[in-house]
Amino acid sequence: MPQLDSGPSMNIAIVGAGPAGFYTAEALAALCPGCELDLIERLPTPYGLIRSGVAPDHQTTKTIQQTFERIAQSINLRFIGNVEIDRDISLAELRDAYDVVVLSCGAPHDAPLDIPGHKLRGVYGATAFVGWYNGHPDYAELAPLLDSPGAVIIGNGNVAIDVARILAKSVAELASSDIAAHAMRAIAASRIGDIHIMGRRGPIEAKFTNVELRELGELEEAVALAQPDQIPGALGDGLSPRERREKAKNLECFRLFAAADAAAHRRRIRFQFYARPVAILGAERVQAVRFEPVRIDAGRVAGHGQTFDVPCGLLVSAIGYRIRALGGLPVAETGDRLANAAGKITAGLYVVGWAKRGPSGKIGTNRGDGEDVAQRIKAEESAAGKPGFAALEAMLRRRGVHWSSFTDWKTIEAAEIAAAPAGAPRRKLVRVDEMLALCAK
Ligand SMILES: Cc1cc2nc3c(=O)[nH]c(=O)nc-3n(C[C@H](O)[C@H](O)[C@H](O)COP(=O)(O)OP(=O)(O)OC[C@H]3O[C@@H](n4cnc5c(N)ncnc54)[C@H](O)[C@@H]3O)c2cc1C
Repeated sequence: MPQLDSGPSMNIAIVGAGPAGFYTAEALAALCPGCELDLIERLPTPYGLIRSGVAPDHQTTKTIQQTFERIAQSINLRFIGNVEIDRDISLAELRDAYDVVVLSCGAPHDAPLDIPGHKLRGVYGATAFVGWYNGHPDYAELAPLLDSPGAVIIGNGNVAIDVARILAKSVAELASSDIAAHAMRAIAASRIGDIHIMGRRGPIEAKFTNVELRELGELEEAVALAQPDQIPGALGDGLSPRERREKAKNLECFRLFAAADAAAHRRRIRFQFYARPVAILGAERVQAVRFEPVRIDAGRVAGHGQTFDVPCGLLVSAIGYRIRALGGLPVAETGDRLANAAGKITAGLYVVGWAKRGPSGKIGTNRGDGEDVAQRIKAEESAAGKPGFAALEAMLRRRGVHWSSFTDWKTIEAAEIAAAPAGAPRRKLVRVDEMLALCAK
């Protein structure tokens, strides 16, 4: 029987092997069967922030990797690791090679903490600090200063809680995690006793989710504390029913924290609200952070004038994320995503995940982005006879770039699992050259 001529298939490059990249590949494979799908990732390891952001002691959350592995192995997807757009090949070159390019490169840079002293030693953005304890190769050499009794974390979202919890957990509590070996050693030897989570607004405005907050009340060697006079008695107006439920549970937690006894605990996690950072103090390294107490007037933060200092040798700022202009593309005014209209940047160029909508939602939120963009690509794009992978490979070869495959990743993963300490899922490799040496074998 003659086959229906559906025309030549598109070749599509997806840039970034985090959740958004995998979900997009899955949706495209379903909607445009026969299209050539290449997933380009700057590291030899896939899964983006699932590997390097999600906390190492939250292994259940990380099981989503199995879904992505299933996608990689069940559709016709070529994983091209260790290739970075703007380092090894430009976006313009990639667009010349492929009919369609989808950017799923995340928004992996910290919003700046622009106050005097932010360049002192001991001051880190959450991207670097979280990347360090999660074994991201970019931050493996960070060696953060954990030798002082005080640590300050600025920010009132779940990333701030993750950082505090990892600093507060005992070695026994971390034993079943996949924390990087260098971070495990450093945290075991750390002198940190007081971890201050500081927020400009109050407990109701804080973006903590209840599960994460509650977990701080269940640590072996640490206690979570709050100031009774900072916990509002009622929720106030303007919240959706869902928000009311979540915030009410959070206030319940804070009341328990406010009644907790700090004595007899090795570490204390101290929540302090209504305080904005104005300066980081220290000669060569951070010694304290200066805060100004504030009140909320008609939704706006207003300063009181006087200040107070919180002594610390470590400061982690977890105040949001920014994107860098990949390939010189325009960034949205918010600074945390590429300018786009419902996932489209221009003909043949699309964006999904954090790079599309900024740092919001849960892992599963990225699935909808992938499905929407796949629909648009199916409706709006067609094969333009571009060479696809053949042209990319030729360029990489000419430039001496060693790209790694999904099979190579499975080799890396097997080595990590084989080296796992007792009770832990894996011991992460944290250097790209070590990973590539394994692949070469
Ligand atoms: C600290 C932290 C903890 C989190 N914890 C949770 C949690 O517990 N539960 C939850 O639901 N969500 C959590 N999230 C959110 C979740 O991780 C994100 O929703 C999700 O990872 C976003 O997916 P993405 O694919 O858009 O970006 P990413 O996961 O960032 O993936 C982007 C990928 O693109 C690659 N890349 C970047 N630039 C280039 C380039 N130029 N060339 C090639 N490749 C490139 C990166 O290496 C990366 O692999 C957390 C986020 C953070 C930061």
